[in-house]
Amino acid sequence: MATQWNHFIDGKDVAGDRHLAVFNPCSGRQEGHVAAGSSREVDIAIAAAAAVLPEWRGRRPIVRGRILTEIAREIRANIDKLCETERAETGKPTWQAKAEIEIAAQYFEFYGGMCNVFQGETIGLGEAYHSYTRREPYGVVGVITPWNAPLNQAARGIAPALAAGNAVVSKPSEFTSGSTIELARLALKCGLPAGVLNVVLGSGDEVGSAIVSHPDIRKVAFTGSIRAAKEIGKIAADRIIPLTLELGGKSPNIVFDDADFDEAVTGAVRAFVLNAGQICLAGTRLLVQRDIADEFVNRLVAALGEVDVGPDEAAAVGALTTRAQYERVQYFFDIAREEGATVAMGGVAEKKPEWGDGWFLPLTVYTDVTNDMRIAREEIFGPVLVVIPFEDEADAIAIANDTNYGLAAGIWTQNLGRAHRVAAAVEAGQVYVNEYSAGGVETPLGGFKQSGYGREKGIEALHHYTHLKCVTIRL
Ligand code: NAD
Repeated sequence: MATQWNHFIDGKDVAGDRHLAVFNPCSGRQEGHVAAGSSREVDIAIAAAAAVLPEWRGRRPIVRGRILTEIAREIRANIDKLCETERAETGKPTWQAKAEIEIAAQYFEFYGGMCNVFQGETIGLGEAYHSYTRREPYGVVGVITPWNAPLNQAARGIAPALAAGNAVVSKPSEFTSGSTIELARLALKCGLPAGVLNVVLGSGDEVGSAIVSHPDIRKVAFTGSIRAAKEIGKIAADRIIPLTLELGGKSPNIVFDDADFDEAVTGAVRAFVLNAGQICLAGTRLLVQRDIADEFVNRLVAALGEVDVGPDEAAAVGALTTRAQYERVQYFFDIAREEGATVAMGGVAEKKPEWGDGWFLPLTVYTDVTNDMRIAREEIFGPVLVVIPFEDEADAIAIANDTNYGLAAGIWTQNLGRAHRVAAAVEAGQVYVNEYSAGGVETPLGGFKQSGYGREKGIEALHHYTHLKCVTIRL
C-alpha cells in the first residue's frame, strides 16, 4: 500500500504541492511519497509555534510533565503501528524497531518526570542580597534528525525541548519521515496544544536550512553528518544562535588480554552489527592486544557466522536504509582492497536469493589494518569492522585517540585500575567498560572533536534547551 506523508503544522495535516519518493530498503522499491516542503511551510510552522509559545512556556511544569508522560504511554500503546512505519522506511528487523520505539517512550517518560525537578538555584551573597537563577526556554527551537533511528532521535530532541517549555519545529530525514509525523499526531491527542510540535518534511537544503536561518528560531539541535553540520554552523554563527551537534564516530572498542574473552567477543559483534552498523556510536575500530588478536579474530568471525542478515522481521541485522548508504559501503569495500587490508569475512556485495533487490550487505571484518588507512579513519556507517592490534595500554590509548572523531569508546578488561585509567585517557563523550553502548536515556551523549558539541540525553539536555538567567535583588 502506497503511503503519503504530509507536513504536520499547527495540529493539522498539511498537504505539500511537491513530493519526494520513499523507498522500502528491504525490497529496494518505491512505496510512497513524502511532502517536499520549502521556506513557505517553515514560515507557517514557526509562526504557529511562536503564537502558542507563551501559553506553553507559562504552564506549570507539572502540567507539561503530565502531557509528556501521556505521550510516553501513547507511544507504547501504538508500538505495533509505529514499528510498521519505522520498519518500512528503515529496513530494521521488528525487534530492533520496537526496542528503539520503547526508548522513544522512555525519553518522554524521563523528561516528563524531569519537568518537576529541573529548577534554578539560590546563590549566597550575604544578608544584603537575594540572588537566584532561572532556567528559561529558548523559545521556538529546531530539531533536525537523520534516518538511522528516526523516532528515537526525534524523541531524544523533542522531549527535553518540550519539557523545558520550548515550542518545536522538527524536520526528520526525507528518507524516514513517517514515524515523526505519527509522533506529532499522538502528542496532539495527548493534550499537547496545537502548534507546540510541528513537523515540516522535505530536504535538508530547503527545509533544514530554512529552519536554521529563520529569525524566530532561537536554537537548533542537529543530528547528522559533519558536512551538513558545517553548513548549519555557518548560518548559526552568522545569527549567533546555539547549536547542539550530534555527529558521527569511528569509535574504538579496546580489548585487553585480561578481558573476559567470551563476553568481549559477543560485545565486539554487537558493537558494530547493530542496525547494520548505521549507528553513530558503533564500535567500528576493534583494537585488540596483540597476544590475543589472532585467537580473538577467529572467535569473532565464528560468532559472526551465526548472525543472520536479511529482510526477515526476526533477522539479527536488516538492510542499509538508503540506496546511497548501500553504495557508500560498497565503495569502502573497494578502498579496503586498494589499501591492502585482509578480508577476514565479507567485503563483497554478494546477492543472496532471500535478499532480492533489498539493500543488504554482508557483515565484513578487515585485518592487517593500520590506523592511517581510510577504512580506519572514515566513518563507513555500515556493518564493517577494522581490527587493529596494539602492544600495551599506552599504545591502545594512542591509537584510540588518533582520530578526528570522539563520540564513544569501549574498554574490555578485568583490571579495575586499567578500566579507570583508560576511561580517563580516551577522548570520547561516552565510555563503556565491559558492555558496549551501556547506558540509557539518563546518560548524557555527545562528542569530543568532530563528533560534535553540546549534550543530548540525561539532565544535561535540559541545560542545552534553556537559557540561564541570574536575578540579584538588593534587599
Ligand atoms: P545528513 O547530515 O545528511 O542529514 C541529517 C539531517 O539533516 C536530515 O534531516 C537532512 O535532511 C538534514 N540536512 C542535510 N543537509 C542540511 C543542511 N544543509 N541544513 C539543514 N539540514 C540539513 O546525515 P544522514 O546521512 O541523514 O545521517 C547520517 C549521519 O548522522 C552519520 O554521519 C551519523 O554518524 C550521524 N548520526 C549521528 C548521531 C549522533 O547522535 N551523534 C546519531 C545518528 C546519526
